[in-house]
Amino acid sequence: MDFQQVDPDSEHTFTKDDAAPGDLPQIRSLKDLINHATGRGPDENLAAEDGGISEPLPFPFMAIVGQMEMKLALTLSLINPHIGGVLLIGPRGTGKTTAVRSLLDLLPQVRRSKCVYGCMPEDIENGGIDAVCPDCAKKYAEGESLTVMEQSRLIELPLNATLDEVVGGFDERARVHDRLRLKKGILAQADQSVLFVDEINLLPDEIVNALLDAAAMGSYTVRRGPLSATYRSRFILIGSMNPEEGNLRPQIMDRFGLRLIVQGLSEPQERLLAYRRVHQYLENRHGFIHNYQLETLSSREEVQATRERLNQVILPDHVAQQGIRLIQQLEIDSLRAEITWFETARAYTAADGRAEVTLNDLRIVAPMALRLRKSEFMREYLNKQKQDEELLSNIIKEFLSE
Ligand SMILES: [Zn+2]
Repeated sequence: MDFQQVDPDSEHTFTKDDAAPGDLPQIRSLKDLINHATGRGPDENLAAEDGGISEPLPFPFMAIVGQMEMKLALTLSLINPHIGGVLLIGPRGTGKTTAVRSLLDLLPQVRRSKCVYGCMPEDIENGGIDAVCPDCAKKYAEGESLTVMEQSRLIELPLNATLDEVVGGFDERARVHDRLRLKKGILAQADQSVLFVDEINLLPDEIVNALLDAAAMGSYTVRRGPLSATYRSRFILIGSMNPEEGNLRPQIMDRFGLRLIVQGLSEPQERLLAYRRVHQYLENRHGFIHNYQLETLSSREEVQATRERLNQVILPDHVAQQGIRLIQQLEIDSLRAEITWFETARAYTAADGRAEVTLNDLRIVAPMALRLRKSEFMREYLNKQKQDEELLSNIIKEFLSE
């Protein structure tokens, strides 16, 4: 297939360099990424319609060279929010931030509440009319829709954000007019979106705690003086960290679904190709992005379609049992291990167009879900505790036997 495209409006014209040096795999779609991970050849039936790109966008996701595991993990995390997000671990300059920002290309459509409190019609179905705010209750009664379909967003949490900015606080503009009102924080704004925290290991503890609690619960409550409000916060959390700049507490590490060790490209050919693409992108962003619009649009459609059929994918008992045996063999305590692993495997299976998870699917996504799960500290702690428990029980028996 000839991918040469010429943008008539652009000063520069580009030739796609995918076929450039050597036998690097061609990744033009999610299906290609899946095929690569499974060890199959690329899919030649790339179906996409031509669409316009009007805004300058980040570096195209599909133009990122190599880094297959990172790209796969990020894509799967968009397909299945139950995976629990992604932590990218690696030195600077390995493309972590670029990759996350380029996810903008693939973000799906989500049903979003029109209300600042995130009221949804299912709240009423589950908890009655009082489960939503008075405004939404009125709208619902009048048959007006509480939600709208919208493209999911990518929101970055800046390292210098204050706790009030993150969770929300008094609305200072309203206060000037003697009105007391709460303002939505970043966590609430990120509901149903991707929340990216670059260098999460440098974030103050109180903010990390608020962030992880909101991510785990899917909602949180803010109390300021006489006011309180509960906001939804069902975001996909993506964090990055450079271990050279400080470690992440183990309990925080465990809260992330997938963990990726991101290293620089090792093949000289890959490095050259990456350089060429970055150079072209910096020379003419519009032209470069335009050259990738087919891949971008088809990948976004694949992500959307895969999300929609995810609930049809089943994990058979015998496959799950084998997975749990492996987790026990690895002596991993956290139940998040199997939740993340199995949900990732379901997303992977759905992306491959199948409806039943196999052992092979589990195998392919196992490293990203299971690495860095084991806590030596907890193991020693629990062993010590077990010894203490035996000692205690013996002494109780000795002293209190009749
Ligand atoms: Zn409402």
